[in-house]
Amino acid sequence: MQNTMSDFKIQSVLITGSSRGIGLEFVQQFLKSPNPPQKIFATCRNLEGPQSQVLKNLSEKHQNVILVQIDVTSPSSVAASVKEVEKHLNGQHLDLLINNAGVLTHSNLESQTSEDMLNVYNINVVGPMLVTQAYHRLMKRAEGTGKSAIVHISALLGSLEDVPSLFDHFPVISYRCSKAALNILSRCHAVGYKQDGIISIAIHPGWVKTDMGTDQAPLTTEDSVGAMMKIIYSLSDEQSGTFVDWQGKTIPW
Ligand code: NDP
Repeated sequence: MQNTMSDFKIQSVLITGSSRGIGLEFVQQFLKSPNPPQKIFATCRNLEGPQSQVLKNLSEKHQNVILVQIDVTSPSSVAASVKEVEKHLNGQHLDLLINNAGVLTHSNLESQTSEDMLNVYNINVVGPMLVTQAYHRLMKRAEGTGKSAIVHISALLGSLEDVPSLFDHFPVISYRCSKAALNILSRCHAVGYKQDGIISIAIHPGWVKTDMGTDQAPLTTEDSVGAMMKIIYSLSDEQSGTFVDWQGKTIPW
């Protein structure tokens, strides 16, 4: 029998990069969902700066929003966050991990530098690798105790097949390479963690109005995240290891 996420409530979720954009919208939509998770770990790389103010306001208003510091490129920050999250989980599993934090820098074949290539790879690929590795212990399940899921927020620009369609306008070499690498990482998680009851999926959120997506983007964060929430709440074993867009349509690798 197929086990879907709709078989059980999402009682705990951790979102990286939730200070703004798509990550912040996930926090807000989980709060508004019919059965909000008991623990929403809203993580942000700088809890002291002004960028965490919206999250601070949310956590003052909602006791299920727990602010946690995570810089996805810092193994010590990730390790410290696991200790804190574990205390709040009180022996329960982490049901859902959303690897959302990411950066895009503009580069073309001529201007791409090794520094930028490595920096973008570090945030967009090493980050989700480190975070998932660290939280695996809290997500893995014994047979018959339900499912956990990892959602990697990827991008159409990482699709090999799609390169010709947007290359002239968006060469973004480091970003494309990082998202293609993230996709294979997601598939590795799907295969490697299958026996632990963990589903892994890569989702392209669409072109979304955020600091990264700019005002020119056609989709609002509300519409993009609303559609991704539907996918997440109905995830099945069959979808593990796939790459889909916000509407659930398969994207070619
Ligand atoms: P934003 O630029 O609006 O937000 C990016 C988020 O990532 C911020 O919260 C930022 O934190 C965080 N972040 C960056 N570096 C780190 C780090 N080292 N550690 C922790 N957090 C970090 O982008 P979006 O909301 O648009 O993008 C979210 C995801 O969606 C990304 O993975 C992006 O690639 C993907 N995506 C977005 C698209 C779009 O059109 N917007 C299209 C396709 C994919 P801080 O505030 O501290 O900088």
